[in-house]
Order: sequence, then C-alpha cells, then structure tokens
Amino acid sequence: MLRRFFLASPSLFLNLRPPRVLFSSADASEFIKKETSKFPEEVDLMIIGSGAAGLSCAVRASELGVNSTLLVEKEPLIGGSSKMCGGHFSVADTVFQKLNHIKDSPAFFYRDLIEAGGGKNDPSLVQKFIEAGRAQFDFLYKNNIRPMSLWASGGSDIPRGHVFNPYEIVFFLLDKARNSNVKIVSSARAVGIELNPVSQTQVVTVEYLGQRLKVKTAVTLLASGGFANNRKMLQQYLNDLENIQVFSGNGNTGDGHRIGLKLGGQLIDTEFIKPSYGFIQNAADPNDFTMIFYGGAVILNQEGHRFANESTSYKDIGLTALQQTNGRSFIVFDENIRLKQLESRPPEARLWKNLNEHTSHVYFANSIAEAARRAGLHPINTEKTIREYNQIVEKGLELPFGRKSLSGGFGKPVKIEKPPFYVMPASLGIMGTYCGLKVNDKTQLVKNDGQIIPNVLAAGEIMGGVHGENFTPGCGFGKALAFGRVAGETAYSLIQP
Ligand SMILES: Cc1cc2nc3c(=O)[nH]c(=O)nc-3n(C[C@H](O)[C@H](O)[C@H](O)COP(=O)(O)OP(=O)(O)OC[C@H]3O[C@@H](n4cnc5c(N)ncnc54)[C@H](O)[C@@H]3O)c2cc1C
Repeated sequence: MLRRFFLASPSLFLNLRPPRVLFSSADASEFIKKETSKFPEEVDLMIIGSGAAGLSCAVRASELGVNSTLLVEKEPLIGGSSKMCGGHFSVADTVFQKLNHIKDSPAFFYRDLIEAGGGKNDPSLVQKFIEAGRAQFDFLYKNNIRPMSLWASGGSDIPRGHVFNPYEIVFFLLDKARNSNVKIVSSARAVGIELNPVSQTQVVTVEYLGQRLKVKTAVTLLASGGFANNRKMLQQYLNDLENIQVFSGNGNTGDGHRIGLKLGGQLIDTEFIKPSYGFIQNAADPNDFTMIFYGGAVILNQEGHRFANESTSYKDIGLTALQQTNGRSFIVFDENIRLKQLESRPPEARLWKNLNEHTSHVYFANSIAEAARRAGLHPINTEKTIREYNQIVEKGLELPFGRKSLSGGFGKPVKIEKPPFYVMPASLGIMGTYCGLKVNDKTQLVKNDGQIIPNVLAAGEIMGGVHGENFTPGCGFGKALAFGRVAGETAYSLIQP
C-alpha cells in the first residue's frame, strides 16, 4: 500500500527539501581549528594509550607533582584491553589474602613467577612487578576499589589472583586523572617521536581530526598495549593462526612497538607468544572464557583421555591441546564444580548460570557417558577416565601429568561425581601478546646496543621481560597497573627540577 502511494506520487519526491546539512565544510574546518587549538603544544609528560598502564602512570605522576600531562588515546573509547579483561590481578601478601586466611609472601610469588617463566624472565622486572603491583593494589584498596574474590594463578597453589571489576578500576583511574589536571584526548593517534638529545626534549607527532600536531614534551610513556589486532605482525611470530581467535582492544595494533623500534629499541620474548586455553567454541565475546579447570574440572581429548596437568598455565595447556586429534579438547566437570566456579569467579556467570536445553556452549546430562556422547567424545573411555581419576583423588595420590592440587588453590583436586555432568568443547584465543620492548626496572627503553633512552618509557602489555616463557594469569592487567605506576614515578623523577 505504502509502496503504491510512493510510486504514484513522484511529485512527493520532487517536493522534498534536501536533507538539512548539519555542518558545512566551513563549519567543519572552524570546528577542527577550534578543537586543535586546544591541543597543548608543550607538556611535561606525554602518555600514549589509555589502558591500565597509561592511566596508572597519569595518576601516579600527578599525585607526585607532575603538573602538565597529556594522554592521547587513538580509539574513540577509553580503556583498551584493560577495560575488557577478566579483572584478574595477581598480587602477593595482601590484606585481602589475610582476610581469607591465605598465607603468601613476595618471596613465594617471585619463586612461582620465575618457575612459570622457565627462568627466562628478567629478575629485576619480576622483583619490581611484585613490589609495584602490591603498592598499586594497596592504593586501589585504600580508595575502596576492592576485589570480589580470590583466585589462583596457573602454576601456583596459592590463591593470589584478586578478581576485580576491570571497569571499576579503569573508570576510577580515569576520574582520578581527570580531576588531577591530566588532559585526555581520545581519537588522537600518536605516530612518532623525534628525540632532541641536546635539549633532552622530544616532539611527539599526533594525528587528530585529520591534522598532524606536534607536542613538545620532556618524557613520553608508550602505553599502547600489545599487537594482537595486527594480523600481519602476529603472523610473524605465531603459526597456526587458523585455529586461534583474537580478543584484544581494537587499538592494539603495535603502534608503540613500531615507534620504540624506530628509536633503536628492541623487541624481546616474541618466541613466547602463546594463545590462551579456555574459550568456548565460536566465542563471540572475550568473556566467553573459563578457568574452571583451575577449580577442579579435567580436560580430555576426543578419545576421552586426559593429556595435561589442568593446574598449569592455560598457555601451556593450549599448546598441548592443539596437538590432540583435530586440535579438539573438552572440559569436563560436575555440578559441585559449576556451583563453586559461580561463587569464586563471578565473571563466569554468563557461562554457568541459567543453563537450559537451548544452551549451546556446554553439553550436560545426568550421566558422564551421556554428556560425553552429546559433545562428541568417546563415552566409554570418558566414563573410565573419570572413574579412575576419582579413585586416585579419593586415595589422595598424585594424579597423572603431575596434578597435585588445584590452581584454584583452595585445596586438593576434587572428585567429579555429582550430576548433572558437563562437557564443554574448548578452543583457544589470543588475549594479548605479552612479548614487547625491552625496558629496565624504571620502564626506560633499552636500545639494541644496551644504552638507555632515559626519557622514553614503556609500560604494560607493550613491555617484554616480565613473563619469561609462560604468562601467569593475573600478570597482564597486573603488569599494566604495576608498571604504569612505576612509569609515573620515573617520569616524576626526570621532570622535577
Ligand atoms: C578478554 C581479555 C581478558 C583478559 N583478562 C586478563 C585478566 O583477567 N588478567 C590479566 O592479568 N590480564 C588479562 N588480560 C590482559 C590484560 O587485559 C592486558 O595485558 C592489559 O590490560 C594491558 O593493559 P595496557 O594498559 O598495557 O594496554 P591496553 O589496556 O590495551 O591499552 C592500550 C591503549 O593504547 C591505545 N593505543 C594504541 N596505539 C595508540 C596510538 N598510536 N596512539 C594512542 N593510543 C594508542 C589503544 O587503543 C588502547 O586503548 C586480558 C585481555 C583480554 C583481551
């Protein structure tokens, strides 16, 4: 009917006035001129990137007395990977651990990080990470930013993964920075740094509203995150991208790495980029990710056999999982483990709450064999594997593949015995690159020839050296929070008269 009316009334179109133009090109150039004129020409501290590292640096530097800071963010939205992460922040010997009667110490944490990293981590960075992480945790805690629960890091029996709401941290830091005179401009992309070794200053070029602006500064922090969203760069260091999904902040394309390399910096630890294990198949969202194996679930291959120590790093599990038949693996657990996971890791509620017959990421049934059959793994072997697993757990013996305890930390491995039983086909994803630019423990860039560029800093996911050959969960967000703080302190010490 409507169509006939329009066809019969061509005049209607002729009579239509042209759409109202909101901005003429003169308006637009006026707008650009006005906005870019507000852009500072000179600051003490320039920060590239608005994730946990950039914001922590901004807040710490201004707390200490740095007066003029400009933070540029290339995306329209603030927060990068930090805002979308699981909020898991590994710290040792905290008041929250004490409240939960957990004994921990910086020395235990140091031991666990070096062990997980295969001794390939830089000891001075590990030490600094532990100290500064704790200081940043205390700062957040004092400001009433509190963890929701405690969780363990793969490879350790001690629960020191403090699970925060990452939004709460990012927006707390953002507000704090704004209230401390830090100028924050989004949709502004830093593209290069020119050093003036004589005057000890530098000029940062920023693309903003189609213009190239120059900002003179004493210190620059590269806090632009990793490069997981740069497929070309990723391909240089990682095979088998076919079976791997990528989840990372949109802007994480390695800009800061390129800037740092151009200044003579070096990229280290690229051989240790590994995908993380625990995504559902066809994950649509980074939160379609579980660590339920640290809470007692086991991982089986298509033949129904265990093949890994489920309590080790989810990076190591991932590489072994890719080697199984068709690269397939399945996470198996029972009702007790599901309920405990809901309680101890609230971000996983989206996966484990309100399951019904339409749920497509996990299969469940009242017998293990039936749940296994539905998910497409060998039902008889699966039943046998779980029976034997339960017998060993009951006797308190060490399980095959060296599983002695739960990374969940709250004790020993548990039996998988209470129906319904669950089987989740799992997959892998890249959530960060974790390798990065070489820095010293003050976050100053170290060049190929070993010399330091004192006034160019790098903190957060962009820096290498902390993790060694294995990323310990809770140490990515944690690294950004800790070393952002360190960068703020270094910037202050360089800027103060
Ligand atoms: C889904 C997911 C879950 C995760 N869960 C955890 C977890 O629970 N625990 C943990 O420890 N780690 C976790 N990580 C990793 C962790 O989130 C990151 O390593 C950490 O937050 C990185 O912080 P950052 O400040 O270094 O970088 P980001 O938070 O990524 O911020 C970098 C910012 O720089 C901007 N930028 C880039 N280039 C430029 C440029 N040229 N100019 C201006 N701005 C630029 C980017 O747009 C981005 O906003 C997770 C990551 C993901 C993706």
